[in-house]
Amino acid sequence: MTDDPFENMLAQMDRAKEYADVDDGVFERLKHPERTLKVTLPVELDSGEVKVFEGYRCQFDSARGPFKGGVRYHPSVTQREVEALAGWMTWKTALVDLPYGGAKGGVICEPKDLTQNDLESLTRRYTEGIRRMIGPETDVPAPDMNTNSQTMAWMMDTYSMYEGHSVPQVVTGKPLEIGGTPGRVEATGRGVSIVTERLFEYLDRDLSGASVAIQGFGNVGSNAAKLLDEAGARIVATSDVTGAAYDPEGLDVSALDAHVTAGGLIDEYVAGDRRDVPIADGDGDRGDGWWDAPEMISNEELLTLDVDVLIPAAVEGVITADNVRELRASAIVEAANGPTTVAADEVLTERDVQVVPDILANAGGVIVSYLEWVQNAQEFSWPLETVNAELERRIGRAFDQTIEQYDAKDLPDLRTAAYTLALERTASAHEYRGLFP
Ligand code: GLU
Repeated sequence: MTDDPFENMLAQMDRAKEYADVDDGVFERLKHPERTLKVTLPVELDSGEVKVFEGYRCQFDSARGPFKGGVRYHPSVTQREVEALAGWMTWKTALVDLPYGGAKGGVICEPKDLTQNDLESLTRRYTEGIRRMIGPETDVPAPDMNTNSQTMAWMMDTYSMYEGHSVPQVVTGKPLEIGGTPGRVEATGRGVSIVTERLFEYLDRDLSGASVAIQGFGNVGSNAAKLLDEAGARIVATSDVTGAAYDPEGLDVSALDAHVTAGGLIDEYVAGDRRDVPIADGDGDRGDGWWDAPEMISNEELLTLDVDVLIPAAVEGVITADNVRELRASAIVEAANGPTTVAADEVLTERDVQVVPDILANAGGVIVSYLEWVQNAQEFSWPLETVNAELERRIGRAFDQTIEQYDAKDLPDLRTAAYTLALERTASAHEYRGLFP
């Protein structure tokens, strides 16, 4: 089996095709992105060095509406990865029934090595590079890995400068002050928490006290952790690049969140070097000399913990044929895009491990992006309660439809159910629109 994410996405499509009512010609069409632009991005860094970066924007499919999808900054970005992620956006927007197609952008860079000025210059140059293909009605970028509302503000400003007037609707995930929506930052994590609760209801199990391991404590992982903790679950482990903090009794999620928000790493937290404690008494502990440290384990060990729910919330391709047989979680909720390879998926299905697929589990982000885009079009803003209620309604409906499809067609797993719905919806849009010319 391959670790190429695009091959993995095609294999997921093939797996679902067997059960989906999709014309062969249209299916063939759906295996190819509409276009991918590669841009060269020379940037003068704060250090004085001129560095040439490479970026991409892939527009996968637009049959259901304007292209939509985030932009990621990461050293391992490749054209194939961006294309796979754009494909997953297509199936995600179709599954949660948003009037969008799918796209994705990426820049090969290590954000940790760049200053704020460097990031601004890089973002503006990238936006200039792709500005002819984006727009409020054509393609609407958003945050993804290592990008945030500040990145979106720079993109919106650069695009607007060329247009000669402010165009907030060209990106989503903006700061509130320039047309962002309340609830967007937590949206993906909130969606993960909602589908986890729905899964437990469906399985007739109690979420209260259930043990949860979350790989990744970035925007998605940390918000999912906070909300699941509030819902009564026990977050026993979470991680970053330095490794994972593990406490079978449950981690202090708000302390960990405060530490990480203040720029701290997990290994420092476990060592008692806490950024969230303003005055330490020299040894970095709470100040009273007492620190009930969680255990430090590896990211790989986190994946194999004996927990009720495993939530991969970092990069793709972490659950593979090599480690799937060691996994002991009874359910998996995919907060990351593409965390499970098809070979691993087959084993999970065989072993009856319920997997809520990425295109459903992490759709909260793009749902609230849509709500932001709609508010921008209306030039009207909604309160947080309205946004959260609409998020819950939409992701809940997609969850119910996936379960209905799974039960009614007696499908092997929830991913196949989600993909058959997404493929059928996208294919039906293609059939109505026809093949041009
Ligand atoms: N990057 C997010 C995702 O993978 C959000 C995309 C969006 O809001 O357009 O779903």
